[in-house]
Amino acid sequence: MPVYNFSSGPATLPESVLRTAQQEMLDYNGTGISVMTMSHRSDAFLSILHHAEQDLRSLMNIPSNYKILFLQGGALAQFTQVALNLAQNHQRVDAVITGNWSRIAAEQMGKLSPYLNVHIAAHGGEQFNYTNLPAPETWDISRESAFVHYVINETANGVQYHPVPKLGSDAPPVVCDFSSEILSRPINVSDFGVIYAGAQKNIGMAGATVVIIREDLLQRCTDRIPNVWNYQVHLDRNGMYNTPCTYAIYIAGLVFRWLQTQGGVAKIAALNERKAALLYQTIDQSGGFYRNPIAPAARSRMNVIFSTGNPELDARFIQEAALNGMQSLAGYKTLGGMRASIYNAMPLAGVETLASFMREFQRKNG
Ligand SMILES: *Cc1c(COP(=O)(O)O)cnc(C)c1O
Repeated sequence: MPVYNFSSGPATLPESVLRTAQQEMLDYNGTGISVMTMSHRSDAFLSILHHAEQDLRSLMNIPSNYKILFLQGGALAQFTQVALNLAQNHQRVDAVITGNWSRIAAEQMGKLSPYLNVHIAAHGGEQFNYTNLPAPETWDISRESAFVHYVINETANGVQYHPVPKLGSDAPPVVCDFSSEILSRPINVSDFGVIYAGAQKNIGMAGATVVIIREDLLQRCTDRIPNVWNYQVHLDRNGMYNTPCTYAIYIAGLVFRWLQTQGGVAKIAALNERKAALLYQTIDQSGGFYRNPIAPAARSRMNVIFSTGNPELDARFIQEAALNGMQSLAGYKTLGGMRASIYNAMPLAGVETLASFMREFQRKNG
């Protein structure tokens, strides 16, 4: 029986990536040693890093005036690192709250007060109980602000902006948490000042955090910022200010190459749409047995949340699904219910298996 892993992160990886890593584990490319034990300054690792960066640049069409870093600390570290770097003394930061992660981001940036002042530009919790998204036209943002921060796909709540919000030319630089959707559909990088994403959802394994930053914003990264948090310091040292997360970068590089063999981001986006549509159809056609509370236009294509409305039945669903090879379908810890995370590496067959299990479970328990 095939096992499908619907975990929200760390999440499933392409089997071919894991097989390559396995084959190369003890001897990377004739070096006689493992990537895991190799000096980060060796030619072999420098080449891995260089290719990972180049492949990400070409997959996302990242313009040359954007720099790429592979840092550590995950998205949670970025919540404050980006603020430390981009906000000057007492400057306003506009925070759009659309779910769990953007709420935490705003809270954590707020701890840097009075160094900066967080202004809540929109609050999807107060407006919609996180089942819909505040339209970008309604965001209360100021061109004087250091930046506006939002999360494009709320991994726990299952809401996602599509299309990608377009802000006016007088908007402050846009900083966006892409953790659970990077590389899942084509985007225009030039719409953003900073894009960041933890690797363990759509890029690879836990440990690496991708930061893509527009060059002109680096002027703000002055020496007042401790080196290990300073984007410019990392760039000046070619990503080697501290020891980079070498193995996680290597795995990310393998995933980038795999994505190229799948036809790139546009191709995978079409497949992602198909996968999500299949699950939402199964929910919508269940006659109310399964529910998804999200406004249809805001439904996430990466994290599909659903429940039966009965916690005991939900628990049984999760348990029986696991016995049938579908793992980690429990919803976010504070939200309950079910959540199917269907990132790039989840094959269509996994989603089809889940959809037929859902129908079967309903037949038995409906
Ligand atoms: C998972 C996730 C985070 C937290 O990431 P860590 O790597 O644990 O810091 C933050 N934001 C979003 C959108 C996420 O999906």
